[in-house]
Amino acid sequence: MRLAFAIIYSVLILLLGLFGMISRRSKRTVAQSVSYLEYSFIVPIIGNLIIVLSQDELLSTLGSYTYFIGMDLMAFSLFDFTLSYCNIPWRTHRKKCYIIYAILTLDIIQYFFNPFFGHAFGMEAIMVDGSPYYRLVPYFGQTVHRIVVYIAYITSLAIFLFKTIRVPRIYSEKYYVILFTMILAGLWQSYYIFSRTPIDRSMLALAVCALLIFYFSLYYRPFKLLDRMLANIASKIPEAVLFFDASDRCIWVNNNASQLLQINSDKLDSVKHRLAAMFDDLGEGQYNWTSKQTVGSGKSARHFDLKRHHVTDANNKKIGSFLTILDNSQEVHRQQQEIYEATHDKLTGLFTKEHLFNVIKNKIVNEKDVSYSIAYFDIKDFKMVNDIFGNAVGDNVLIRVANWIKENAQDNWTYGRIGGDAFGICFPTNGVRLPIVEQRLSAFAISNGTIDQRILMHVGIYHITDPSIDISIMFDRAHLAQKSIKNEYNTHIAIYDDKMRDQVLWGQKISAELEEALKQRQIVPYLQPIVNNNGKIIGAEALVRWIHPSEGFLPPFTFIPIFEKNGMIADVDKYIWRSACEILSSWTDEKSKLFISVNISPKDFYFMDVYAEIKNLVDEYKIEPSRLRIEITETVMMTEAESRMAILSKFRDSGFIVEMDDFGSGYSSLNQLKDMPLDVLKIDMKFLSKAQDNAKAETILRNVLRLSSDLGLFSLTEGVETEDQYKMLNGMGCNLFQGYYFAKPMSVTDYEKLCNEQFSDKKSSI
Ligand code: C2E
Ligand code: CA
Ligand code: CA
Repeated sequence: MRLAFAIIYSVLILLLGLFGMISRRSKRTVAQSVSYLEYSFIVPIIGNLIIVLSQDELLSTLGSYTYFIGMDLMAFSLFDFTLSYCNIPWRTHRKKCYIIYAILTLDIIQYFFNPFFGHAFGMEAIMVDGSPYYRLVPYFGQTVHRIVVYIAYITSLAIFLFKTIRVPRIYSEKYYVILFTMILAGLWQSYYIFSRTPIDRSMLALAVCALLIFYFSLYYRPFKLLDRMLANIASKIPEAVLFFDASDRCIWVNNNASQLLQINSDKLDSVKHRLAAMFDDLGEGQYNWTSKQTVGSGKSARHFDLKRHHVTDANNKKIGSFLTILDNSQEVHRQQQEIYEATHDKLTGLFTKEHLFNVIKNKIVNEKDVSYSIAYFDIKDFKMVNDIFGNAVGDNVLIRVANWIKENAQDNWTYGRIGGDAFGICFPTNGVRLPIVEQRLSAFAISNGTIDQRILMHVGIYHITDPSIDISIMFDRAHLAQKSIKNEYNTHIAIYDDKMRDQVLWGQKISAELEEALKQRQIVPYLQPIVNNNGKIIGAEALVRWIHPSEGFLPPFTFIPIFEKNGMIADVDKYIWRSACEILSSWTDEKSKLFISVNISPKDFYFMDVYAEIKNLVDEYKIEPSRLRIEITETVMMTEAESRMAILSKFRDSGFIVEMDDFGSGYSSLNQLKDMPLDVLKIDMKFLSKAQDNAKAETILRNVLRLSSDLGLFSLTEGVETEDQYKMLNGMGCNLFQGYYFAKPMSVTDYEKLCNEQFSDKKSSI
């Protein structure tokens, strides 16, 4: 029997040593404590091994010491393990822990005094298995020892008990398995202590306890917890989840699924029927199947992501499957909304420019046999609507125009808003009768209930002849056509032709060439004589010409309007003004009395201080200001009238003569005329001859000339082509004349020659 126990103890020692080593290698936080625990359980067993094997009192006593000190160490490590396993924060309970450690340490120390005082235990010899066996006789110290060990033990038990009760039920399993193990080992141990059997069989209990702790704390995974967690997760995830067995029978659904299918989670027989009614395909029999499906239509449409996964066993045999259904409607609607917002104009709800271009591109590519046209709609004077009536009215106009387009559009039209007040349409060329559109456009008005406000729309159309060109270029062409519509109230549509493009190209070409042309003196002033009522030349108007190296002689109408548009006119004018000053300063003798009139474009005022510019020139060339006459047109006064008048006054105050050019051709404001700082009224005969018969023209001229003299102005008639005209105007009291009848504009040299002849005639006549 002693031998049997010796063997059992040895095996237990080896086993515990092994567990201790294995625990050491584990990465779990509790591993260190488990390892100590395993090792510490070895010590009392070694003590018992010695007791069992020894036959003399000394060895048995030594074994007993090992046993009792081992029990203290064991209680020590059990307590340490408890703190670690139950996650008891060491710092907050430091004092209480110190008490346990202190009493255990004191208990160990008291054993060292036993040989001297004999207060803890003594030994008595009995016979076991026919040989002497030394059995322990406990005294007071031994009782203290037991109390101390029980305190540590019961404290550990209490902590486990507390944890078992306090944690959520699914977690308590983790604690109560160890709690039971510890109680079992404790009872077994206690039984031995009080039964006083010679050989300590409770060591087995200790070993079993150590083994169970080793297993439960390092390897045991509470399946109940796992089960619950998985079920919990499956019911909490946003998807509807349905589990099926190997024969595709539904065995479990989560809350979302029962809500989605409107079934009771315990009445799973109707699941398949419900699913089939809702979805087209359920991926049965397929591995890892996914599908996007829409249920319903329009605004109430719901969008679902379906996934089916198969579950297989270790041999890859199907044991079931699960289906997840995610209601993605919100996300899909959000995406649809985002796409809508990115492709539709906020104000009008029409396509945005980018989207319109894309749609048109696809249309043209896909329908090669249909010929399409592009229309560029522009609201005339929309800026003015905004400025005068405010943005809200402006927005309303845009919405009305957009609605008008929607109402008038046919099914196969594509349209959108392509800019501030511009709309674009792509339509099949043959499907549209332009005269009808023209008619509808001229009738288009916006009503606010009481007043109809006519909105003038101009439409440029480009018939797509080359579908391969960029949509933006097509719109540029339609835009070009639209811009070609002059401010006429009865034309609303213009169709692009290549001349328009050539014009644009021409504009680009000469704009690029201007700087060099000025440097190379290709731009020159021509002079057209101005005569007095005796027919004598008293001055000239400087009119620009471009002697182009490849294009030849260019008259102003080929480039002035272009430069007026892009502002480059300022460079041309400055150059002509300087040339005029140069010429004036070069004239000596009788020519030094002649003047030159220069043209000032309304645009010049935007790009420079016209007064300072011209004043500096006459100062630089030391010219009498009255010899450089200033020609302005009525359009100059159309904006910032007051400041423009101030500029003209400054000119006059400095001795310049200011002429109102082309009087009567523009928006004459006779009222304004009387306040204007002017010297000369320049009347163009061309404007008269066109529309009026002679008698009428005469009347107008007579009255304008009278008006001029009444206002104290000099009068100059230009465009005089015949002797009759000259005589008539002379008779009416006109002061100065200019026109082909006297001379066409000519080079400076020719002009000088002409003047020289006149002066020599005069001399010879004297
Ligand atoms: P404008 O200032 O009214 O100049 C008079 C135009 O009438 C000149 O045309 C001239 O050649 C033309 N003309 C003169 N007499 C007669 C005539 O008896 N019958 C007819 N049918 N025409 C006559 P041009 O030189 O072609 O200039 C056209 C316009 O170009 C000018 O009209 C002026 O507005 C502008 N322009 C010319 N040179 C300049 C310039 O240096 N600067 C600016 N800003 N504009 C200029
Ligand atoms: Ca002029
Ligand atoms: Ca003129």
